[in-house]
Amino acid sequence: MTITKRLNTISEEIYLAEKKYHRIPNSVLLLAVSKKQSIEKIHEAFSAGQKCFAENYLQEAMEKQKALSDLDIEWHFIGNIQSNKTKLIAENFNWVHSINKLSIATRLNAQRPAHLSPLNICIEVNIDGEKTKSGVMPQDIVELAKNISDLKNLKLRGLMVIPEKAISAARQTLSPFRKTFLLQQELIQRGFKLDTLSMGMSSDFEAAIAAGSTIIRIGTAIFGKR
Ligand SMILES: *Cc1c(COP(=O)(O)O)cnc(C)c1O
Repeated sequence: MTITKRLNTISEEIYLAEKKYHRIPNSVLLLAVSKKQSIEKIHEAFSAGQKCFAENYLQEAMEKQKALSDLDIEWHFIGNIQSNKTKLIAENFNWVHSINKLSIATRLNAQRPAHLSPLNICIEVNIDGEKTKSGVMPQDIVELAKNISDLKNLKLRGLMVIPEKAISAARQTLSPFRKTFLLQQELIQRGFKLDTLSMGMSSDFEAAIAAGSTIIRIGTAIFGKR
């Protein structure tokens, strides 16, 4: 199947899921995860109408942005962030979904160029409190959200989650997506103005939409295997 056909299929599935789960039409954004995919494939997706792309690895992302600089793409960073990489991320992305500590947010804030609008931020939450995983423990989210809200060149938009499938299926009554939604509601009740839940990938985006996702991050289902 071509990338254009796959994009059309996913858009139809998003539309149907929004209907089925009583979500507002067009309230779920499709983010194309293009890590380890070629520049040609990104070009094809863009030509089919896809405007938002996400990358995990900074050097790879910089090469692609250079090659595709004539296209009006909104770039999202979703990978692990080392502190020596924050400057290029602050300068070259519209969104960062993978904030898991204040020191990184502070650097991004200091390095965001003045002529750009504030960098959109999601805090990555380790919703099941797994020791081996990155992300902020649920009990530490409020304090980090407060501190990020004080940073003028960042705009805190919401939470991002990558659930562990094995744990979620076998041992839990509440799905990790539902738990993330409830955590976001708690933050909203505390006065944080949040509008984004970045959750759902190729294999589980329908469940994420059912639980309130507003951005689904889709790689394989658009571009094929990496
Ligand atoms: C790679 C990646 C995705 C996309 O995963 P697919 O299963 O290919 O859709 C989404 N989110 C993050 C954080 C990723 O690293």
